[in-house]
Amino acid sequence: MSRPNTLGPDTNAVHAGRENLGQAHVPPIDLSSTYQITDVESGGESYEVLAGGGRPQPGGSMVYSRLWNPTVARFEDALATMERAEEAVAYASGMAALSAALLAAVQAGTPHVVAVRPLYGGSDHVLATGLLGTEVTWARADGIAPALRPDTGLVIIETPANPTLELLDIAAVVAQAGEVPVLVDNTFASPVLQTPVAQGARLVLHSATKYLGGHGDIVGGVIATDAHWARRLRAVRALTGGLLHPLAGYQLHRGLQTLPVRVRAQQEGARQVARVLVEHPGVARVYYPGLPGQDPMGLVGTQMSGPGAMLAVQVHGGFEAAVRVAGRCRLIGHAVSLGGVDSLIQHPAALTHRPVAPEARPHPDVLRISVGLEDPVDLIADLQQALGDPAPRRRPCAQASPSAPVRTTPSTHHAST
Ligand code: PLP
Repeated sequence: MSRPNTLGPDTNAVHAGRENLGQAHVPPIDLSSTYQITDVESGGESYEVLAGGGRPQPGGSMVYSRLWNPTVARFEDALATMERAEEAVAYASGMAALSAALLAAVQAGTPHVVAVRPLYGGSDHVLATGLLGTEVTWARADGIAPALRPDTGLVIIETPANPTLELLDIAAVVAQAGEVPVLVDNTFASPVLQTPVAQGARLVLHSATKYLGGHGDIVGGVIATDAHWARRLRAVRALTGGLLHPLAGYQLHRGLQTLPVRVRAQQEGARQVARVLVEHPGVARVYYPGLPGQDPMGLVGTQMSGPGAMLAVQVHGGFEAAVRVAGRCRLIGHAVSLGGVDSLIQHPAALTHRPVAPEARPHPDVLRISVGLEDPVDLIADLQQALGDPAPRRRPCAQASPSAPVRTTPSTHHAST
């Protein structure tokens, strides 16, 4: 359980969840699927507590890894601390985490959800189909209050939104939602740039697959929340089994230590890429909250400490041109997912947002780019050649102006452009 502390966010990233390690320097990985019980009576009591969503009692057994795992719990505590939440509950994927929140709402007899588009395509799809017993009303950000009903159990938003980076004022959404808990998908910002609990959100969801893991080798999800919701979410997890594996829990916990440095460096790269793309004749529009005019509510610098490392571009030439550009990238990987150390480009309408209803689907000429940790100069050169520039303009480090793309580290090799 996270404790109030006065440490800075970067210090928490390094140290949170690492209490009581004994002589060990790093947390152990506990792979037990089952745990010893001393006797039937106390084992049964422990089972009762854990299956109901409680935490292990002092001296009590953890009983079974579907009910509790100490390695996963350390990651959860660390993430909760970074999100300024009381607790966190981790899952096998971001979609498993969202599913647990929806099932908890259904279980409480409040299956109606008010959601603001755009959302990640999978989130949109699970809501639109009502697969888990929820019923969705799609609302505009300023139309949440009139959409609420007595059986509304959740308001769901994403900010910045996938894929076109719209920002929503979380505090304004919370005010409209009144008593109804607001779930904010914070995957794109990460707790480094935004902590929605500070604006009144009750649940903060991450696809941990993305920035939290950061290296493209883990699938996971997590919800940071208060103790009441954490208990409900753990009870759903115990029952439905959408568990985060302890090895992934360990990796995610380790990933949090470098999250602030990664996100800030990736954000700096994204700023440089966005500045160049916005001037490119092949690009009709760049979606990036750090560009002039793209943050009308002034949320960057207030709600968010920075615009992040995700951007989207609308290219001239429609679907065919977008497909061509994505396919021509050489350094930037052509793949879904985001938030890793390597840059990725993908076509949301054809892939991540394919299941979304046509009226809410991203335009077919939009590409989403996740900026990684490569030299921005190399990323820009790759995008320029993919956009059809005959000879990508490259600016040596020594001549770079403050607004020009710069190498962030000395480089001995060049992208094969
Ligand atoms: N939320 C956002 C914003 C996402 O981008 C994704 C996946 O891309 C998810 C949730 C779902 O997460 P996962 O793929 O880990 O299930």
